[in-house]
Amino acid sequence: MIFGSHVSIKDGYLGAAKQAASLNAGAFQYFPKNPRSLSVKSFDKEDANMCKEYCTEKGIVSVAHTPYPTTLTPADDKKKEQVIDSLLSDLEIAEACGSLGVVVHFGKNIFRDDPLASYRLMLEILNYVLSQWEGNCKILLENMAGKPGTMGTTLEELVQLRKLCDYPEKIGYCLDTCHAFASGLWNGDNWKQLLHKGVELGYFEHLVVFHLNNSKYDTGSGKDRHANIFNAGYIKEEQFSQVMESSLIENIPFILETPKEKVSHEKEIQQLQKRWG
Ligand SMILES: [Zn+2]
Repeated sequence: MIFGSHVSIKDGYLGAAKQAASLNAGAFQYFPKNPRSLSVKSFDKEDANMCKEYCTEKGIVSVAHTPYPTTLTPADDKKKEQVIDSLLSDLEIAEACGSLGVVVHFGKNIFRDDPLASYRLMLEILNYVLSQWEGNCKILLENMAGKPGTMGTTLEELVQLRKLCDYPEKIGYCLDTCHAFASGLWNGDNWKQLLHKGVELGYFEHLVVFHLNNSKYDTGSGKDRHANIFNAGYIKEEQFSQVMESSLIENIPFILETPKEKVSHEKEIQQLQKRWG
């Protein structure tokens, strides 16, 4: 099993990889640039390349996470342009760092009178970005934490969006366990059915990474509040066990995005390795 966590790039990309290694992690996630902004600046290519080499040498895998303001359903054209430029820059940085992909949240429903318009907007953005992108690094669509029935909370939507895109081979998935639980996609007791459905739909063959998080709120709450894996949150250890014990997802990395106040990521990775490693 491959466990890791989100790490900071305060010491650069190589620094992030070294931090992951110091946590005894087999995988890590990082923000390719300022997490609070969509502005695009030049990046240190040499540092990114050293990160890539270091990860290859140590057998560590990584993914990048788009900055918080990134949305595939921007409200206006100006924001749309910013998102497109930012995504292309994230892909370029992540490719240079040797990462598997760039995690992007599914969009939101922003057109009240036309439920399909938001999906069309997402497709337009993905098609444009990926028409400009020739690298190996993929866009990784992440499932949302909304109330059951809101956009981006079902495997069907994720699979359909990928299929409808002009470049499906450049798209993979990120499955966030907290979001899946909060949205009711995974209620803690239906993992077997979810796995079966995901295999049938062709979801799991394109799953690249897990965000491994517990949830501060019960299933169906729609709330995106992460909690620590053990003895915290509504998802029980036995319920996580069902996920961990699926042979299908053996080689997919699990990345913690859990709070670090009570237990450090180093400690939590250690707990994960002890329990399921
Ligand atoms: Zn996540």
